[in-house]
Amino acid sequence: MATLEIKDLHVSVATDDGAKEILKGVDLTVKAGETHAIMGPNGSGKSTLSYAVAGHPKYEVTSGSVTLDGENVLEMSVDERARAGLFLAMQYPVEVPGVSMSNFLRTAATAVRGEAPKLRTWVKEVKAAMSELEIDPAFAERSVNEGFSGGEKKRHEILQLALLSPKIAILDETDSGLDVDALRVVSDGVNRFKASGETGVLLITHYTRILRHITPDFVHVFAGGRIVESGGSELANVLEAEGYVKYTGAQEAAG
Ligand code: ADP
Ligand code: MG
Ligand code: MG
Repeated sequence: MATLEIKDLHVSVATDDGAKEILKGVDLTVKAGETHAIMGPNGSGKSTLSYAVAGHPKYEVTSGSVTLDGENVLEMSVDERARAGLFLAMQYPVEVPGVSMSNFLRTAATAVRGEAPKLRTWVKEVKAAMSELEIDPAFAERSVNEGFSGGEKKRHEILQLALLSPKIAILDETDSGLDVDALRVVSDGVNRFKASGETGVLLITHYTRILRHITPDFVHVFAGGRIVESGGSELANVLEAEGYVKYTGAQEAAG
């Protein structure tokens, strides 16, 4: 069973004024079969965590470790991370003009599976997954994310998730910008992905509403570049009622 282990992770981002430390010692273990939610105020470093695990060149790991089943993720190229079974859905998905969704998905599946999926079964697979996510078949021929609405981008992330079946998925604000119906479709997609019990999910979110559709096993509060509290799904209800004030106050007091 897959295990993603993040230990005492410190990450700096390159800015015009030099390197700025954003993550200040993150410890987190996500195992297959578990869903973890990371919740925290804007600017607390949640996306920085997902970029660092994804291997974005702007985010420098200054100390600590990230391993997947004991293998050092930080030494892997972005492609190798995907092949190892990591999937990262970014808060702001990139547009890839001139590359159709269907080509993009097939290339990604080929990279992850180590061989090109057979065309006939692949077309069926994609059609079925698109229909489950209520995506218009015409989207298959459109350029990746180009001119997609926020909700359409998020559906396509979940489409990738369904087709690539990674071991561990990190979803950064997959719920943001979704209306009620899209939120249901996207949440159902994540729940189908979880249903095998063989995959781990790290759900990064600012709001508790997606947690009414996807029940996390663990909730972690993120503030000031680290996890400041962990609990079960009931912690989300406390956050919904009380907000993050308690934690951001502590962050200011700590400097
Ligand atoms: P969150 O996702 O929790 O809202 P982020 O990880 O996006 O937080 O940002 C954390 C902090 O790091 C913020 O103060 C943000 O301005 C800063 N930061 C993140 N990425 C960059 C970047 N590429 N350049 C400069 N500052 C950045
Ligand atoms: Mg933010
Ligand atoms: Mg963010």
